[in-house]
Amino acid sequence: MSITVAKFGGTSMADAKAITQVAEIIKQDAKRRYVVVSAPGKRFSQDHKVTDMLYACYHDLQINGECKDTFDKIRDRFKGIVADLAIDLDIDSYLDKVEEEMNKYDSAEFCASRGEYLSAVIMAKVLGYTFIDAKDIMVFNENGDFQAELTNEKVKSALANVERAVVPGFYGGDEAGIVHTFSRGGSDVSGAVIARAVGASLYENWTDVNGFMSADPRIVENPKPIATLSYKELRELAYMGANVLHPESIFPVRISKIPINIRNTFCPAADGTMIVADLDEKELGKRVITGIAGKKGYSIVYIEKSMMNSELGFVRKVLAVLEYYNISFEHMPSGIDTMSIVIADSELAGKEDVVIERIKKVVNPDHIEIKSGISLIATVGQGMSFKPGSAATLIGALAKEKINIRMIDQGSSEMNIIVGIATNDYERAINAIYQAFASK
Ligand code: ASP
Repeated sequence: MSITVAKFGGTSMADAKAITQVAEIIKQDAKRRYVVVSAPGKRFSQDHKVTDMLYACYHDLQINGECKDTFDKIRDRFKGIVADLAIDLDIDSYLDKVEEEMNKYDSAEFCASRGEYLSAVIMAKVLGYTFIDAKDIMVFNENGDFQAELTNEKVKSALANVERAVVPGFYGGDEAGIVHTFSRGGSDVSGAVIARAVGASLYENWTDVNGFMSADPRIVENPKPIATLSYKELRELAYMGANVLHPESIFPVRISKIPINIRNTFCPAADGTMIVADLDEKELGKRVITGIAGKKGYSIVYIEKSMMNSELGFVRKVLAVLEYYNISFEHMPSGIDTMSIVIADSELAGKEDVVIERIKKVVNPDHIEIKSGISLIATVGQGMSFKPGSAATLIGALAKEKINIRMIDQGSSEMNIIVGIATNDYERAINAIYQAFASK
């Protein structure tokens, strides 16, 4: 029988009611043999995520040498969950040990990891599945870098003879047994890694939304849900701010082309979004664009010099300046005698003057300036490469709204057109693009 790896996020683990719903979902399909869980998240908007409270414990430990008050809140949270679930689990002894070890190890990552640990202990008990500690199978080196291939081997052999298991997400361990974590939201990555190792035919990622929307619902009213999406499209959309899934979750599953299905724990009847390796022609024919995403907070370093295109090494010299100041850039559309480098404000902050001075020195431009207050909008869709006129639709939509395009960049894959516009126009621009393609 094929295997499904099912990962459940923080809201799915937030309280006993949600956990009971999760157990029901798992039991409905015998293929759901390996389950990965997050720490309990928010139950309501003002609530605290357990992971945030655990980081707060670490902070308390640094400042006061103890974290009893904050830990007591975590204790209450888990005790409440276990009591409401009415399971036979001595959660107090687990909590005592966790508190003791948090004091002992003095590590932010160890503290943060305990939410997933306890969550998985509880879930394993609820389901009657084997608990497998992520510390023993998800391999990091001593610097905290994840070791993908070693992990793949380890998970494979650890789960080979385990019929059904629950594994905590978000963390792993190094050779010395020290706990390391992924970046925030990393349980998505843990699930993907396990899906690859066990040769799953599906990686389900259960969250609290019905999958990806074709635009941010806070900006566009009732955007269409995305039924199918390719890994490549997801990567583009996620990079530009569509954050339903940790962007690094794609790498492990891409190797074996395992589809990811984003599902909603609180609306299991919805099909959600299916993320696949390749879209077939039929799928591509159905739509021009797949989605729109964007980010605020960019600047453009604009450089002009006549005969730039024939000056050997010009671009290299400019980029070497950025490298010297440890600044990474996003896009670099260029003309014959002009080049624009789009950089996130967070990268450039405080270094503007030195960068300008240095570039002036190395390439002696006719003109250089930094244009700030820029937002980027990515219009993504593999279907665009099949349909002429996509760029015209996009540019026409912005022109009709009298929105000035400060930069435009279409990758040669023709699946993503990025425009830079003034941040004041951001919401209006997204709506204009969305409406223009919605009628196609
Ligand atoms: N609990 C961790 C976080 O809040 C990891 C996760 O949920 O994926 O970031």
